[in-house]
Amino acid sequence: MDKKTILLKAYDCDSGREAIEAAGRILREGGIAAIPTETVYGLAGNALDPAATAKIYEAKGRPSDNPLIVHIAAWEELAPLVRRVPREAELLAAAFWPGPLTMILPKAPLVPDTTSGGLDTVAVRMPRDPVARGIIRAAGVPLAAPSANRSGSPSPTTWRHCVDDLWGRVDAIVESHDCQVGVESTVISLCPGPDGKTQPRLLRPGAVTLEQLREALGEVAVDRGVLERLPEGAVVHSPGMKYKHYAPAADVILVKGNSAAYGEYLKEHRAPGEYAMCFEEDLPLAGEPALSYGAAADHAAQAARLFDLLRELDRLGAKRVYVHAPQVDGVGLAVYNRLIRAAGFQIVEAEEKTEIQP
Ligand code: AMP
Ligand code: MG
Repeated sequence: MDKKTILLKAYDCDSGREAIEAAGRILREGGIAAIPTETVYGLAGNALDPAATAKIYEAKGRPSDNPLIVHIAAWEELAPLVRRVPREAELLAAAFWPGPLTMILPKAPLVPDTTSGGLDTVAVRMPRDPVARGIIRAAGVPLAAPSANRSGSPSPTTWRHCVDDLWGRVDAIVESHDCQVGVESTVISLCPGPDGKTQPRLLRPGAVTLEQLREALGEVAVDRGVLERLPEGAVVHSPGMKYKHYAPAADVILVKGNSAAYGEYLKEHRAPGEYAMCFEEDLPLAGEPALSYGAAADHAAQAARLFDLLRELDRLGAKRVYVHAPQVDGVGLAVYNRLIRAAGFQIVEAEEKTEIQP
């Protein structure tokens, strides 16, 4: 691939006005562009134009059965994309839109099969990032925007990550802030069950937490793929969850257990030069080389640093990395969900050897 890529600078809607208009024009005319959102950078194209979405799959090197999320800038833009807007969608939009939450609903004929990956449902999100919404408005069409990385590599959370992965493969890259959230949106299905009633089901955890969704809706089921590897041949409700994903070149091993157990595990198993990716508090126990991805209790910081650190490990030439697993409450569930995929499901339980006397 050898496309002419331009860099457009838009750190806010005032100083970036011209860049936002230029990106909108490229997208309206069928081109593709990497754009900032609060979750990760997205590789955007007109969601209603199969030729544009084909370009997205090609630039990413992504399997085309993997559906794309459709990004809108205003509530009224949802109705034409779906067959019906259930009460649950209104409740969630009131609480979390604009923001890092994607809703899956039965799709209207307007949405091409190439966008929904052949499914009869569509994923829709309204991003909070003002530059993202400015670009959607300037384009005048809903934008399909999967993460702006080459398929398989960690999602991009800075404009430089997009340049590393997509320069020469897309029409434009929008230079803007680092992503605040750092992991992809929470995905919830609001499709009806056999009785016609909406059955809320969490397909991918993100910054809008399971606890928050349950507060808004009551019962919310959790898809098996959120916390574990799906067995061969299982029904996959969220196609993105079946691949090894977000992975650096290094061999990643996810280590569960408290700080002391993690430290002991490293002492026993790590060969010279192998990395620890750990919490701030682990650093005194983790030896060298070690990188911290935030305090153990600060899941938001872990999410914000996660993908940049995975890329950093590649830059450092790490061959093997022992990552200390986060707790799975709140945003920790999203961090854990990405890490088990980055580790290709290599997960170990570390046990503390020394008895602690009360
Ligand atoms: P992203 O890479 O952030 O664009 O994530 C897209 C992911 O959202 C896909 O890989 C799926 O896991 C999920 N998704 C999108 N559309 C659907 C859909 N119609 N049904 C189920 N999951 C979907
Ligand atoms: Mg992705």
